[in-house]
Amino acid sequence: MNTDRKARWAVRQSALPTVVRPCPDCPGTRHRPSGKIRVNASGKLLDVWLLLSCAGCDRTSKVPVHERAHVSSLDPARLVAYETNQPEVVRELTMSAALAARNGYRLDWTGTWELEARTPLYALDDPTPLTVLVGFELPVPVRVERLLMLGLGLSRTAVRRMVADGRIRLPSGLAPAAKAQRDFELALHRPGSAAVAHHPKARVAPGRAGTPFPPRTAEAAGA
Ligand SMILES: [Zn+2]
Repeated sequence: MNTDRKARWAVRQSALPTVVRPCPDCPGTRHRPSGKIRVNASGKLLDVWLLLSCAGCDRTSKVPVHERAHVSSLDPARLVAYETNQPEVVRELTMSAALAARNGYRLDWTGTWELEARTPLYALDDPTPLTVLVGFELPVPVRVERLLMLGLGLSRTAVRRMVADGRIRLPSGLAPAAKAQRDFELALHRPGSAAVAHHPKARVAPGRAGTPFPPRTAEAAGA
């Protein structure tokens, strides 16, 4: 019997978000990072842009990251990262909600993540709740109930019922319909535990005894 009382679910990155803003050359609005960052120096002042490509016509457009910034105000390692198009910095800038807000565009996170849910089997009569650590590899906003549906293989209705009757305990302030984008912990209480013993519906369906929460593998999903 597996006595591990913790499950780890990971929201893994499968793609970068799409930048949504009008293209001056075509009716398209979807832009992907070109993988390049442009740095222009004028004396001691620097302009830094993230370069995007329109998905419709390949037109290159620029997103200002720094404008007329004094060279001494930038971390030298950061400047090297800009000058060498470091993929990690391109990734960070592309996912930046602050940069999107400053430049008036939207990020479309559809298809950027998948859930890897490792849930150990555990005994039906074990009264200890199972703690699930949900970790985010990228700051994608995802509805909590969507994660639960994917992780537990249940319908939205079933997930909401389990939250309502206490079999799924979320952190206070985090409603099932709310969006999470950073790590949190939840607890799964087995059906029939003290918290829900009085609830006639809190039973595991026949044929699923012993595996009320079967382990699930990765599944592609939209935000
Ligand atoms: Zn275009």
